[in-house]
Amino acid sequence: MKRREGAMSFFELRDALAQPGCALCRLRVDSADRFLDTLLWESVNDPARRQEIRRARGFCHEHGWVLVRAAASVGVAIIARDVLQSLLDVLDDAAFRPLSPLSLRRVQEAVDSRQPSVATAELVSRLEPEAPCPACVWADKMEGIYLDALIHNLAGEDNLLAEYEASDGLCLPHFRRALALVRKEATYDALVHVQRAVWQRLVDQLGESIRKNDYRNLDEVWGEEAGSWLRGIAALVGARLEWGKR
Ligand SMILES: [Zn+2]
Ligand SMILES: [Zn+2]
Repeated sequence: MKRREGAMSFFELRDALAQPGCALCRLRVDSADRFLDTLLWESVNDPARRQEIRRARGFCHEHGWVLVRAAASVGVAIIARDVLQSLLDVLDDAAFRPLSPLSLRRVQEAVDSRQPSVATAELVSRLEPEAPCPACVWADKMEGIYLDALIHNLAGEDNLLAEYEASDGLCLPHFRRALALVRKEATYDALVHVQRAVWQRLVDQLGESIRKNDYRNLDEVWGEEAGSWLRGIAALVGARLEWGKR
């Protein structure tokens, strides 16, 4: 079973490296996408899953909006009603807890209007998530599996070096995460060598793009440097991929 999972992540990684943008960003988006699909179509009434979502107070901003997709309205309505009902229960138990008129804290709050109010602190805290976004948890787990697959396939036979070098490389956050897992010098050399080549190519393209934007060069034909400004941002912060379209 383990071997099959390993082979699957190898092929998924290889396919993602052939697509534009950071392969790990893409695989992370795909993983969360599949998780949310399964949630909507198969486990929306699963009590354990519902409890997890209630504890998370729903989802993070990104994954909450990813749920808005074709034919998802009933599933989303069931989830949102469930979480909001639990929030109504929290409000039912809540009360304003005024400070004593003589307390030092009351004076501090009077002086600084941005100090959080002690009178509402308990309710504020009870409205906070008690667990992380379930889609983030799943995406983190899958990202770990794909990072492992990358690290273990940078050397040896059938390695992914050529695919990695031909790709847009890893974004900076994923390059850091990959590096943090490297234990062997040969893996370090391969990873850094390829990422350096990818960044150098991008730096050259950005330079060419800046040159061609000069008014004296406006009639020159654009080549692979076209769009490099977007790839430059993606290289720094991670790819921006459209959900549900892969
Ligand atoms: Zn990335
Ligand atoms: Zn999330």
